[in-house]
Amino acid sequence: MSILVQGVTKLYGEQKALDNVSFGVKTGEIVGFLGPNGAGKSTMMKIITGFIPATSGTVSVNGTEISADNPELRKTIGYLPENNPLYPEMYVREYLDFVSSLYKIVSSQKRIDNIIGITGLAPEQKKKIGALSKGYRQRVGLAQALIHDPGVLILDEATSGLDPNQIVEIRNLIIDAGKEKTVLFSTHIMQEAEAVCDRIIIINNGKIMADELKNNIHSVLKKHRQIIKIEFDRNPDVSELLRIEGVVHANPVSGSLWNIEAEGEQDIRPAIFSFAVKNNLTVLSLQKEESNLEEVFRHLTSI
Ligand code: ADP
Ligand code: MG
Repeated sequence: MSILVQGVTKLYGEQKALDNVSFGVKTGEIVGFLGPNGAGKSTMMKIITGFIPATSGTVSVNGTEISADNPELRKTIGYLPENNPLYPEMYVREYLDFVSSLYKIVSSQKRIDNIIGITGLAPEQKKKIGALSKGYRQRVGLAQALIHDPGVLILDEATSGLDPNQIVEIRNLIIDAGKEKTVLFSTHIMQEAEAVCDRIIIINNGKIMADELKNNIHSVLKKHRQIIKIEFDRNPDVSELLRIEGVVHANPVSGSLWNIEAEGEQDIRPAIFSFAVKNNLTVLSLQKEESNLEEVFRHLTSI
């Protein structure tokens, strides 16, 4: 089961929540949809699941275009909406029974037992949803998203508001589900995307800023920014440092140790060495910093 988003734009009145967004999720991939609050993540997910229409552009799941009047296709998608709206007055089993009936699942009791096992709901299955902890409510949300065994799973901030233990448990459930499903998982937390996903798509102000395999996400930033930690034998003139082409910041750390930040694709180190030679400075040490995902994220979403 694959997802293909092509040129999707969404306007809420005057406001553009999504601006010509395109990306694909391949069968079996777990893709993290990462962006700050208001970036457009939930809007994109509501469009993929057919809950709201795009203003323009298309979404296809396994080659078939999504639309509100295609309920059959929606059966192939499991969706955990943001804030996981549930019925607090319903008992866990009663609710899962209700969801099964919507999907017209045959031998639903067996399937409910199975999904209760998978999501670890057994100890709480006799309670009303309103009496459950947030972590167990998220499990109920995941159970309703998984009960019809969809090929595609869309999870909107599945771990938000959970405590650290609950986060790990829900993440593991998602990783397990992802072994046999195509998963798109939104989060505003970088470490979460790093822990769960194979690929990371960064969105900001309704635009895709990066789309990379997790192990390659650092390359996104290297194209834009490099940080050099450098020690000279004496302090250079900061205004001279800033005159090196590409350098955007130069900050003293301690002694004659400097942090130099440069933009541009070209490696800045040769330019710094020539600067040192020209100014009769000796370079005592130089280190190019590898940026982590958090930096990539901050850089790409603070524009
Ligand atoms: P995210 O999930 O990344 O936090 P959303 O998709 O919820 O972002 O929102 C994207 C933008 O669209 C935000 O600026 C938000 O205020 C706006 N928005 C979302 N839903 C609506 C709506 N129903 N009506 C008007 N504006 C909306
Ligand atoms: Mg959201």
